[in-house]
Amino acid sequence: LISDDSRASATPMMEQYIEIKAANPGSLLFYRMGDFYELFFQDALEASRALGITLTRRGQHLGQDIPMCGVPIHAADDYLQKLIALGYRVAVCEQIEDPAEAKKRGAKSVVKRDVVRLVTPGTITEDKLLSPADANYLMALARIRAGDEPAFALAWIDISTGVFRVAETTQTRLLADILRIDPRELILADSLFEDAELRPSIDPLGRVAVPQPAVLFDSATAAERLARYFSVATMDGFGTYSRAELAAAAAAVAYVEKTQLAERPALSVPEREAGAATLFIDPATRANLEIGRTLSGERAGSLLKAIDRTVTGGGARLLAERLMSPLTDPEAIRARLDSVSTLIDAPRLVTDLRAALRQVPDMPRALSRLALGRGGPRDLGAILAGLSAARAVGTALAGADLPQELHAARAALDALPEALGTRLAAMLADDLPLLKRDGNFLRQGADGELDEVRALRDQSRRVIAGLQLDYCEETGVKSLKIKHNNMLGYFIEVAAPQAGPLTEGPEAKARFIHRQTMANAMRFTTTALSDLETKIANAADRALAIELAAFDALSADVLAEGEAIKGAAAALAVIDVSSGLAVLAEEQAYCRPVVDRSLQFSIVGGRHPVVEQVLRRGSGPAFVANDCDLSAKPKAGGDGEGHGAIWLLTGPNMGGKSTFLRQNALIAILAQMGSFVPAGQAHIGVVDRLFSRVGASDDLARGRSTFMVEMVETAAILNQATERSLVILDEIGRGTATFDGLSIAWAAVEHLHEVNRCRGLFATHFHELTVLSEKLARLSNVTMRVKEWDGEVIFLHEVGPGAADRSYGIQVAKLAGLPPSVVARARDVLNKLEDADRKNPASQLIDDLPLFQVALRREESRRAEPSKVETALKALNPDDMTPREALDALYALKRQM
Ligand code: ADP
Repeated sequence: LISDDSRASATPMMEQYIEIKAANPGSLLFYRMGDFYELFFQDALEASRALGITLTRRGQHLGQDIPMCGVPIHAADDYLQKLIALGYRVAVCEQIEDPAEAKKRGAKSVVKRDVVRLVTPGTITEDKLLSPADANYLMALARIRAGDEPAFALAWIDISTGVFRVAETTQTRLLADILRIDPRELILADSLFEDAELRPSIDPLGRVAVPQPAVLFDSATAAERLARYFSVATMDGFGTYSRAELAAAAAAVAYVEKTQLAERPALSVPEREAGAATLFIDPATRANLEIGRTLSGERAGSLLKAIDRTVTGGGARLLAERLMSPLTDPEAIRARLDSVSTLIDAPRLVTDLRAALRQVPDMPRALSRLALGRGGPRDLGAILAGLSAARAVGTALAGADLPQELHAARAALDALPEALGTRLAAMLADDLPLLKRDGNFLRQGADGELDEVRALRDQSRRVIAGLQLDYCEETGVKSLKIKHNNMLGYFIEVAAPQAGPLTEGPEAKARFIHRQTMANAMRFTTTALSDLETKIANAADRALAIELAAFDALSADVLAEGEAIKGAAAALAVIDVSSGLAVLAEEQAYCRPVVDRSLQFSIVGGRHPVVEQVLRRGSGPAFVANDCDLSAKPKAGGDGEGHGAIWLLTGPNMGGKSTFLRQNALIAILAQMGSFVPAGQAHIGVVDRLFSRVGASDDLARGRSTFMVEMVETAAILNQATERSLVILDEIGRGTATFDGLSIAWAAVEHLHEVNRCRGLFATHFHELTVLSEKLARLSNVTMRVKEWDGEVIFLHEVGPGAADRSYGIQVAKLAGLPPSVVARARDVLNKLEDADRKNPASQLIDDLPLFQVALRREESRRAEPSKVETALKALNPDDMTPREALDALYALKRQM
């Protein structure tokens, strides 16, 4: 398409198109032509398919028709939204000169055009393209090679709110950290994108990951580039950043500059996030526990949706952020819980706060659009409404005895400048247009000159109404009207048969100047009318000029208070989240968890936060609460806390095993994000990492069988879980032959107990495993209780001590409607198998197999004992040997192998 050959044969317009297209690879090019954006060639094929719009042709290129499609300017936002949602990037190319200028250069010359903005998923600001409850992050990943260990860092920016953060990470944590922040777009150097070692972390991100030229990530110039963006001499004043963090932050900023071109978003200074401060949740666990989204990708049905009672966009975003990154510092968690407790004890205050919060518009996003020069009168209106809502919230909180976090929030609200709100209120009209060029957004009294000009305009309109009466009388034509349209401006119109008095006689002819003859009407003007017209037009121009100047001044006033406004918006989000969680706790009867540095994990009467709400909405049975105690048992002799316990959970399918496993993980997450939890009582020693292997998250698309995925995830857990971790394993070994599966599950339980020593829940259908509790001191057997009644099973959903004696698989199969003949036959087969099993029960294994630790030690000692070759090697002394002897010795060694 862009060979010189093709360029030479193109029309001047196509030549321009091809050049701009070549300069913006990887994006669809929206090429402005009059009232349309047009797309050509491959872009047209893709866009017409993606948007469902008609594909046509325009001219020829190299003897071929050029495919083309177009979208009208006024609907462009809707189409952009669709394309962005589908993962496309769009380069918006505008005419950057008046077409009249181009004509002056010659009839054939094309209007100058250039790309004014790259619209990418991570850099949008339009309200229509953004979801109020979601942050819209652009993220940059940088890797610095320093010594042996590469250092990784992430920087993420929401240009719609100005949030800017950086954090260090590692190769193993990388994907988990990216998914935790859930960016819309991740940029990384193309060399990293191609790096085979990083593939497993990048592949799952799909189209979110976008390679960029490596220069963007240059760490040598990073600090300097950031300093330039923030107009400071050095970044040192903002804190210390690692080299990798600087590189990531600078790349993110460079990309923002690259996509926003002329404009400069008001970003906050990059804030460092300490990695160890957040609960590590690996990607599989995050997906399987359906924290932010369900496995099918929806919000409804997720934990987030179940606990969200916020009433503002900023609050919803903060809640999501907290849920995605729970804390590990008990003090910080307690501070958040204090806010919730305080508000639970003050229901009247919560009602007042929420009434005020409901009036809070999305101030950070309005602020960001104003900073980018994309704002309109409604954005100023949003700031005004936000300021007064903030005042109302501040008033509601005044005098209350507040814990630290809410106290700080109130201080941020108090710090808002009074004057700005007063000024905006005095200036802005009640009903605001979307676009500033529509005018009429300043109120009467806002500006003396504007009032005068408007009076003049209105007065002129009255004068015109007067003129119409005069002309009617003067001509005797009752139906004479003064009208207005865009072509003629003001004109006098009479029906054709009545036009006589205006056209006959020299006097009339001099007075009524003919403008237009229609099918059944004639149109005229007069000097008086056109004078008035000019006056009105001038007044309108002048009025708009005054309003636009006032808009710029007000925007500048708002931006000058940008930091205070952002601070207040952040405070409102905190208050919204705390009061939302208080409402949730009240409504769902949650309790305040005790979170400390112990290794306790004791939940009394725990429930599953999502399933419970679903059951409550239905007419069926209520959710059955269950206890869970994985607390570390004191060591024999009583010194030290010992290690966490493991529960081995057996029970029939459909008995509630997965629900129980998940609910305990979710309770830990909720507690550590600073929320009350669905339980009667909860005591949780802070969890550093949460691992799970639950559900069948098939990964067949990537060529791994279900069993392979299961083993990869299990390997990650056994290799990484620490004694602070919480591990949830559901049905390990299910995906393979019984003996394989049982053996793997067996060894995994032993490893968790003896090596990881974490707190854990292990659900299994291998009843053989329950004998392990005889040998593993901190392993207890629990089971989902069922009742048998008349040959049917009734699930009680109760967790009790002991082991299930049967799996009830056949009963469940019968419930599911398997043909009776199959059920009966299965029963026969089962009886035979069970007979065989009784002769050789698994409990025998426990005697035959040495315990894991013993096996481990044996392996180690085997390793420690030198082999024959090693012993022989040790005896050799190369300095005393001739070359001939050395060669003989080498042969001798070789023979011993
Ligand atoms: P399993 O993992 O043992 O096959 P699940 O955890 O999937 O069983 O639970 C099966 C069904 O039982 C769930 O869909 C849920 O509606 C119901 N259930 C599970 N636990 C409870 C409970 N504690 N109280 C009430 N219903 C429950």
